[in-house]
Amino acid sequence: MENIIDLTMPEVSVREIRLGSITGFAGTAQELVDGSRDGTLKNKTRSFSQCLGCSTANAACTVILIQDAAVISHGPVGCSTCLHEFAFTYRVNAPSRGVEKPTQRKVFTTNLEEKDTVYGGGEKLAATIREVKERVNPSAIFILTTCASGIIGDDVESVADEAEDELGIPIIALFCEGFRSKVWTSGFDAGYHGIARKIIKPARERRKDVINVINFWGSNVFADWFERLGAKPNYITPYSTIESLKYSSEAAATIQICPTLGSYLGAVLEKEYGVPELRTAPPYGIAQTERWFKELGQLLGKEAEAEAFLAEQRAEFTPKIESLREKLKGKTAYVTAGAAHGHGLLSVLAELGIKPIGAAIFHHDPLYDNGCEESDALAQAVRDYGDVKNFNVCNKQEFELVNILNRLRPDVMLARHGGMTLWGAKFGIPTLLIGDEHFGMGYEGLVKYGERILETIENDEFVKNLEKHTINPYSKWWLEQQPFAFLGTEGGDE
Ligand code: SF4
Repeated sequence: MENIIDLTMPEVSVREIRLGSITGFAGTAQELVDGSRDGTLKNKTRSFSQCLGCSTANAACTVILIQDAAVISHGPVGCSTCLHEFAFTYRVNAPSRGVEKPTQRKVFTTNLEEKDTVYGGGEKLAATIREVKERVNPSAIFILTTCASGIIGDDVESVADEAEDELGIPIIALFCEGFRSKVWTSGFDAGYHGIARKIIKPARERRKDVINVINFWGSNVFADWFERLGAKPNYITPYSTIESLKYSSEAAATIQICPTLGSYLGAVLEKEYGVPELRTAPPYGIAQTERWFKELGQLLGKEAEAEAFLAEQRAEFTPKIESLREKLKGKTAYVTAGAAHGHGLLSVLAELGIKPIGAAIFHHDPLYDNGCEESDALAQAVRDYGDVKNFNVCNKQEFELVNILNRLRPDVMLARHGGMTLWGAKFGIPTLLIGDEHFGMGYEGLVKYGERILETIENDEFVKNLEKHTINPYSKWWLEQQPFAFLGTEGGDE
């Protein structure tokens, strides 16, 4: 594993190189965990591939929700289309974070055209930065590179530096061209690398009452939890401001709701700024919730408070969890999600007495940037609840998912990304997507998730009807093939 943190460099290396991450695997969860530990894990390539995500969307995810920042996609207008969905995300999730008046998102594109790919897009970018400053007066501007700007070799870093000198605000180039990496979560690292090198400043003091939370856009559950430990959350980066991010370096600790998201920034905050990172995987399932709170208590010197909180939670929620287990006993489930969050969902299911009979997880990091095995949520889930068969690392290859669902026919499917839910529904499988990534955390989260799963399974009339009237676009021939017929050799490129 090439573990490089160098904030003097404009770019961070992609996950394939830095962490040995893969996007092709079929086997069991235990085999994946074992291969990740003993160094035998290799990527399997597909001879047919339907689609891939793009790192620009993931980089955008880390910066678009900063309240007072603007984002420029430096590329053809089409590359910016995925960014606008964050405006919706920002608005609908604002109430759960207590943001009463969410501001309009400031998302722009340089709209590179054919002639720009011949003469270069640098001047267009410089003009766009000036115009964005004039129109929305942001506290910082982030620039997302795209395949077009990367291929023509625009010197985006120099344009950003010159504009920074001229305008007096941070202008940060994020190098996240789609072709740069097949592991689109490399875009998260590009975004956080930019924040770490140009926004976060060295600590002036060390604060015991602030804990960094690297998250997507979930509800404010940490405010109540941390209050019991005498602290409050500093969310990175949804609904933050450039000012609130600047001194993330002063926090007592950093926690991540998903190491897939915050792997790189958690390590940077610890190694470059001395903020200790909570090593253990996020609190999904009782076993992990107990470990997580205890470790956080130790990190903050608040062991007694953490124990007291856990005792209260156990007393309040255990009877409800047991009642849900009784109702859900014998049910089966399939999970499709990004890596660490999907691993957390496997723990939630197993804890509720539901058998996960398979998973399509979008990529796999054998280890995270902290190099610590305790951060591996999949290893924890397998240790706590046993192996999961039909475990597929699959960067949203829907043809594989359809084939597997047709064979497994679980009682419920949990999905994390909207585009995947329809496949469950088309097979008449009740399918649940929950956007709030904090929803299933802790003891209370198990109850909430269990109730939603039960409700989803019991209200299946719509999907059963949908199945009767749906035309499956995949042929009978494909559904009769093995699901991994196109997942072939180890190593190489797709
Ligand atoms: S893969 Fe390249 S061309 Fe496609 S959206 Fe991403 S940056 Fe644009």
